[in-house]
Amino acid sequence: MNLINGFFSLFYPTQCCCCKRYIKDFRYFYICEKCYNSIKNINQNVCKMCLKPLSSEYVDICIECRERKKTYFEYIKASVYYESPIKELIHIFKFGQKKSAVKILGKIILEKTGDEFFNDIDYITFVPLSKKTSDERKFNHAKVLACYIGKSKGIKVLDVIKKIKETQDQSNLKREERLKNLKDAFEIKKEKEKIIYGKKIIIVDDIYTTGSTINEIAKILFEKRAQKIFGLVVARAL
Ligand SMILES: [Zn+2]
Ligand SMILES: [Zn+2]
Repeated sequence: MNLINGFFSLFYPTQCCCCKRYIKDFRYFYICEKCYNSIKNINQNVCKMCLKPLSSEYVDICIECRERKKTYFEYIKASVYYESPIKELIHIFKFGQKKSAVKILGKIILEKTGDEFFNDIDYITFVPLSKKTSDERKFNHAKVLACYIGKSKGIKVLDVIKKIKETQDQSNLKREERLKNLKDAFEIKKEKEKIIYGKKIIIVDDIYTTGSTINEIAKILFEKRAQKIFGLVVARAL
C-alpha cells in the first residue's frame, strides 16, 4: 500500500461496501476495483422516456409512460440500473451519512451521461427533503449530487423547490398510492418563481422508480413556465 492509499485508509473504510473485500485501491472510494468494473451499462432496447427495458423492439415507450396522465419532463437519464454495487453505494451515501460517496456516484453519472445532455441547460435543481428527513439524514443526498454535477459542468444549481408535506416512504407504495402521497407535496419558493420562466432545467435525484416524484416536480416547474425539464438520476430501478 502506497502513502496516498495509506492516508485514505485513515478516512475511508477498508472494506468494499458491496463484496466486503479489503480495498487496496481507493480510486473508487467505497467499492473495490472489481465491483466498479462489474457495473453494467443501461440496456439498448429501452423506453425512450424512462429507460425501462422493453419486451418488444416495435415500441419505444413503455406502458407506464404511455399510461401516465401527463408527463411534464422530456425524458430521464440514468447511468446504471439499481443493482449491486450501486445499490450499496447509494445506501451508504443516503443512510450511512457517507457524503464523500458523491465523488464516485457523481463520477459514474458524468462518465455515463456524456456532455451532450448538458448542452443548453440553464439550471440544475434537485428533489428536496422535508425538514424532518433532512435533519435525520444530516444532508440532502440529491442536493449534494446536484452540486457535484453543477460544479463539474459549470451549471448553476437552483435551490428552488420546497417540500411542504410530510410524505410516506415511496418505496413501499404502489404507483397509485405514490401519486396520492406526493400530491401537493412540493412548491416553488415564491421569491424564485421568475427565474424559471423559459428555462431548461434538470431535476437530480438518486433513483428513478415510477417517475412520480420527478414528474410531480416537473409539473410545478412547468406551471411556472419552464421551457423543458429533464430528469437525471444515478440509477434506474427495475
Ligand atoms: Zn467489491
Ligand atoms: Zn417509460
